[in-house]
Amino acid sequence: MLYLKTSMLTVCRRCFTDKLLWRRGLSTTQNLSRTNFSHQNILSHFPHAKKNAVFLSKFVYCPAAFTRGLFGGGRGSVHQQTLKDIAENIRECKFRRIVVMAGAGISTPSGIPDFRSPGSGLYDNLQQYNLPYAEAIFEINYFHHNPNPFFALAKELYPGNYRPNLTHYFIRLLHDKGQLLRMYTQNIDGLERMAGIPPEMLVEAHGTFATATCTVCRRDYQGEELRNDIMEGKIPKCPTCKGIVKPDIVFFGEELPQQFFSYLTDFPVADLLIVMGTSLEVEPFASLAGAVRGSVSRLLINRDLVGPFAWGSQRHNDVAELGDVVSGVKKLVELLGWKQELEALMNAGGDKASINKE
Ligand SMILES: [Zn+2]
Repeated sequence: MLYLKTSMLTVCRRCFTDKLLWRRGLSTTQNLSRTNFSHQNILSHFPHAKKNAVFLSKFVYCPAAFTRGLFGGGRGSVHQQTLKDIAENIRECKFRRIVVMAGAGISTPSGIPDFRSPGSGLYDNLQQYNLPYAEAIFEINYFHHNPNPFFALAKELYPGNYRPNLTHYFIRLLHDKGQLLRMYTQNIDGLERMAGIPPEMLVEAHGTFATATCTVCRRDYQGEELRNDIMEGKIPKCPTCKGIVKPDIVFFGEELPQQFFSYLTDFPVADLLIVMGTSLEVEPFASLAGAVRGSVSRLLINRDLVGPFAWGSQRHNDVAELGDVVSGVKKLVELLGWKQELEALMNAGGDKASINKE
């Protein structure tokens, strides 16, 4: 664990961020593009139990987190909430402003390659394009130099190639029941829209293929207008100015979409936060998990403990359902008694896969 020295005491990076930046009203996520943020790493969100820090963290405890643990912030005599409690509160409509945060882990069950897993990852499969380094595919300067690798990826990920799965339809069901406040997704595969979640209920933090913009004259296009070119392996050009038309995916070096800032009004009024299928490692998205009020229940459905759910910073009203994401959502759906409704929704959505099928 790395510690930052402040004038008064030594705290870990997470507490430094929480205590100083948030208190001064300087949200770590405000007005920063993804690129700026990568330079802000020292002030960014870091879980207490970070890889390579396990040994140290057994012996060294951040004083700020320790104090929080002593005074009600941690796991005292308060009832530790369970998945069953969360389900009960959803079913009884006690939660009516649910915010969902999701990442790649909800799309991998649809067959979409994980961007970051070595071997199976999308980056690894892009070696044929001689990228100087994998992330260059999402760098705007590299795109202006050579757009081909990005459009090869676009062809693979273009909406229509994959089907939404149970996790997407579960969120759709939350919306149908009027209990979804907003879904924040890091995914650019468009499966949320395909599952029928209306665009206004979505914050596609890293952009979308549903719309596109000319890189020269800034004219707007619908993603569908680019489909033929992209599928034929051609670079889509603007009929007006002949500039390259780029899908509205957020590249490193570009500002986040305006809707991202809905979090400023959504998170303070949320009554439940569901985080699923994300490593919470990409800023500024990751910091959002800490932006709900302290009294708000947070449910993590994920392979591992991540972000604020990791050791040392979880709250008594945090619930972690660890393991396969689809199985976790399925368990919640069964506790809710929504299995049949969800199945009907999936069938209507053209997805014949049964809820009982992985
Ligand atoms: Zn143009």
